[in-house]
Amino acid sequence: MKQSALFIDRDGTLSEEVGYVNHPSRFRLFPYSAAALKLGVARGYFSEDIILDVHDRLTKTLEREDSRLDAIYYCAHHPSVGDPPYRQECDCRKPQAGLIRRASTDFDIDLTSSWMVGDRYSDIELARNAGVGAAFVMSGYGRGEWEYQRGTWTHQPDLVCENLFQAVKSILDLNQKNELHDHSSISSEASS
Ligand SMILES: [Mg+2]
Ligand SMILES: [Zn+2]
Repeated sequence: MKQSALFIDRDGTLSEEVGYVNHPSRFRLFPYSAAALKLGVARGYFSEDIILDVHDRLTKTLEREDSRLDAIYYCAHHPSVGDPPYRQECDCRKPQAGLIRRASTDFDIDLTSSWMVGDRYSDIELARNAGVGAAFVMSGYGRGEWEYQRGTWTHQPDLVCENLFQAVKSILDLNQKNELHDHSSISSEASS
């Protein structure tokens, strides 16, 4: 049987929004992130090595709190900045769904019962494009985008939460309720 997945945006959702993470020391995991995971589960401004160093730091920080991610996917491309191969029109830059599609193949994921959690409107668009539920969090850019920009949004999130921890709790509740009856209406149920 296919499994459900939780896709989590990094900056502003799993870790503090610090602008560009141009050095691993700028990376700061939110204090509740490890607990949240335990519950459920190119630009050319810097080299790809730094992304990998940051993810190494992320993995080690989570391990210290006895928590982990199944995988980390990222897009190191930009359509107009940097040099090839980083400079390219790719299918994985948000809000395009390339990364989630790749993950769903790698892990045999049922997208209809899966969710994307993020702090920006592009994360909501990504969720729509990938066919997963959209959970919006107030951390990072979240509160500002929610208060000042949501009137301009084409799509609204299925779930709005204070932070990743609350989002994971709500998603687990919803998925559990959904398993009890119709499995196909998770997004519409989540938005009511
Ligand atoms: Mg973000
Ligand atoms: Zn890409």
